[in-house]
Amino acid sequence: MASNPVKFRPRHKPLVGDISRRRLLVAGAAGAGGLLLAGGGLTGKLPAAHAAADMKDGQIPGWYRFKLGKFEITILSDGSYELPTTLMATNQPREEVKAFLTSNFLPTETRTSHVNIPLINTGSELILVDVGGGPNWMATAGRLTDNLRASGYEPEDVDKVVLTHGHPDHIWGLIDEFEEAPRFPNATYYISSDEWDFWTTDQAEQRLAEQFKGFAIGAKRQLPPIADKTTRLRPGAEIAPGIITVGTPGHTPGHMSLVVNSGTETMIVSADCVTHPFVSFEHPGWRPATDLEQDKAEASRRKLLDMAATEKALMLVYHISYPGLGHVARAGDVYRWVPAMWRW
Ligand SMILES: [Zn+2]
Repeated sequence: MASNPVKFRPRHKPLVGDISRRRLLVAGAAGAGGLLLAGGGLTGKLPAAHAAADMKDGQIPGWYRFKLGKFEITILSDGSYELPTTLMATNQPREEVKAFLTSNFLPTETRTSHVNIPLINTGSELILVDVGGGPNWMATAGRLTDNLRASGYEPEDVDKVVLTHGHPDHIWGLIDEFEEAPRFPNATYYISSDEWDFWTTDQAEQRLAEQFKGFAIGAKRQLPPIADKTTRLRPGAEIAPGIITVGTPGHTPGHMSLVVNSGTETMIVSADCVTHPFVSFEHPGWRPATDLEQDKAEASRRKLLDMAATEKALMLVYHISYPGLGHVARAGDVYRWVPAMWRW
């Protein structure tokens, strides 16, 4: 069998070549509005009853689960939010940024960020890495708790919470909707001491650009209620066997990423060291306005991308298309994002 090449002869002309622009226009003008009905109907007439069905709003629950060695990882969605693309690369001409986005079929004015949050079950502990934007940040975000429950856990089940950095989309879900009690009441918390100091003193307020000063106010609401349950650590510290923090400063002063090892498998949790599926990889030198210390942020980004490419490790990126898992390939002296296939 293997020695016989499979012969394939199409019985019909290719679909695209068969439909003229005129026929498409005619179909649209007639109200049919669909490629399948253009040119006389490729699949026959649609039943008329289809037109009466209600539109349904909503979406499937946002959780995705897979095994990494002996660990079970669940990527929880906190939803999404939009940012102006003017924040994307402060050191590049605007027209160049727009052309690059257009070439990747992306809008040029607004960028949609997903929020993909990892929950790691080591077999003995349940560890959440960041907590999303909470109920009072943006209407399109704050869905972490709903998706945690949909995935089979309650907030009370979480043993440890690691905070990669203090931006709203990562920590404003720490306390409940009344802004009093911790949302994950049985957890102990971990954050780098540099990051804790930056947000709980006046540093953030003094150093952030005007448009980001609200971040400082929010952090001062969110962090004090967990102070006595929080370990402030130096990067390199182990959160649990196989889960190690890595210093990737620059996006914020004490920003951390994680390396998660189980068996022979490794996943790098980039947090916001990497933020965009095309810009961060193909143009790691483009500097987002959201990176506070831009020299350091670029150095951290290049270091982490190099590590991921060298180790061929799986990477989780928070703000790209859900669930945000893939690999980093070298492309000359820059990189290319290769999304991982969804595992059913
Ligand atoms: Zn973020």
